[in-house]
Amino acid sequence: MPADPSACLTCGACCCHFRVSFYWQEAEQRGLDESKLVQITPWRVCFSGTESQPPRCVHLEGSVGTHAACRIYEQRPHPCRELQVGDEKCLKARAAHGLPPLET
Ligand code: SF4
Ligand code: SF4
Repeated sequence: MPADPSACLTCGACCCHFRVSFYWQEAEQRGLDESKLVQITPWRVCFSGTESQPPRCVHLEGSVGTHAACRIYEQRPHPCRELQVGDEKCLKARAAHGLPPLET
């Protein structure tokens, strides 16, 4: 059974752990705000803040481990959609922020 997606509401760790990069055309197709993107190659962009150390996506609202919400949930690009609650990346991000593994 997959982990409970409601865990994300008090987490947000993955939005503060990985660089969220994608092809510029996806940004255009999803109508993403250009001012919140950083060009990383001639063809790829990432969300501002996710290229920093420590990373924190500009679109994340709240505090990791307490309350978290994505301000552009409906427009989020494929790296955000592919990461699934309870998968390897999720657990890696949670562990890096001192959060326990999820019950499945
Ligand atoms: S790290 Fe996992 S539980 Fe936390 S917000 Fe991301 S997908 Fe949800
Ligand atoms: S766009 Fe939303 S889901 Fe994706 S990293 Fe930023 S806050 Fe997280």
